[in-house]
Amino acid sequence: SIRETAAREGVKAYLVGGIVRDIILGIKNEDIDIVVEGNGIEFAKSLCETLGGRKVVSHEKFKTAVVVVDDELKIDVATSRVEYYEYPTSLPTVEYGSLREDMFRRDFTINSLALEVDNNRFGDLVDYFNGYRDIRDKKIRILHNLSFIEDPTRIIRAFRFASRYGFDIAEETERLLQDSIENGFLKRVSWPRVKTELKIILGDRRPHRALEYLEKYGILKTIHPKISYSSRMKSQIEKTADSKKLLDTLGLEKWMVNFLVVLENLNSDELDLVFNKFGFSGSFRKKYHLGSTKRKKILEELSIARKNSRIYDILKEVTNEIIVLLYLEGNRELKENIEKYVYTLRDAECMVGGRDLIEMGEAPGDHFKDILKDVFYFQLDNPGSGREELLEILEE
Ligand code: ATP
Repeated sequence: SIRETAAREGVKAYLVGGIVRDIILGIKNEDIDIVVEGNGIEFAKSLCETLGGRKVVSHEKFKTAVVVVDDELKIDVATSRVEYYEYPTSLPTVEYGSLREDMFRRDFTINSLALEVDNNRFGDLVDYFNGYRDIRDKKIRILHNLSFIEDPTRIIRAFRFASRYGFDIAEETERLLQDSIENGFLKRVSWPRVKTELKIILGDRRPHRALEYLEKYGILKTIHPKISYSSRMKSQIEKTADSKKLLDTLGLEKWMVNFLVVLENLNSDELDLVFNKFGFSGSFRKKYHLGSTKRKKILEELSIARKNSRIYDILKEVTNEIIVLLYLEGNRELKENIEKYVYTLRDAECMVGGRDLIEMGEAPGDHFKDILKDVFYFQLDNPGSGREELLEILEE
């Protein structure tokens, strides 16, 4: 379809960026990025029609568009361009430019490849900066010496790609990276953008080398002086990867849990500082208000809890985020208790209610809550008990 659309519009079109890299590596990637030499927005509209897509969201100023095909598939279309800054502080004015210039603005050579998808040379790899060689040699390499100075977030991106693909950072690139860190360029970094990168790192299958780099270059310390990459952190993160079922049941994302693991040793005030820096919302902070001291107490109580009602009582006020952290930390018994809570106790409902008490002639009042709680806890501790039995207890 891209090929047909390009022919119809009379433009050249290229697949670019991560997807080309991953095609070469044989890795699945569903983020389709297209660069068009010509009018990208017209191309996007035409492509949307061909695909029977839902809509095109376009940005005239930047000459970019997103083709929303359906909930799953979105295609980004850009116009190859050069950016001019009319005034140093203004947003760039976009002019049509060449593909080469577009590729030159990318972060690393492995991301600077384009694959022609129009009729002319369908399937040709356009490789201005030796990206193919670097993929083959497993190297992360920047395109020019000022790259990290231009955008310090690339420092963290370098770690992320090296870690994910098991690549090395090219010697010269690592030297420039170190220089820019030593010259304080991280101070200029935008923390919400760092958060975006950290999210990807912590959600990846292989985050460890990235964390080692973040430790080595003092970036974890920049997030907060108390954070360091320890063997304990490493093992907790490995355990998160093994706890998929629990995370899914609780509706939690892996990156989030790992992020909390990274922040594990901070007290409530310190957590607040970090969450602020990264721009997390107040509601998010609330979920994680139980600092390490309180968690220790819960951990102790839970590891000796035997009765279902006791497990329920300990965990009922605890947020899902904290439940997972306790799980990662706990011994076998504690893990079993948490599994029991998450998979069964949590959703249990009392088989008798206020209406039954009223039918027994009891006048409604605050005391109902305590009575029903006792009966409910009896029900939890005696999984075989039926409604009849509970009614008898209620009567007493
Ligand atoms: P992933 O598979 O994790 O999405 P990706 O390569 O698609 O990896 P994105 O962060 O989605 O990474 O970025 C898409 C493309 O945009 C990259 O391939 C890269 O060429 C370019 N890019 C992203 N961030 C930067 C940056 N800070 N500097 C230069 N180019 C960037």
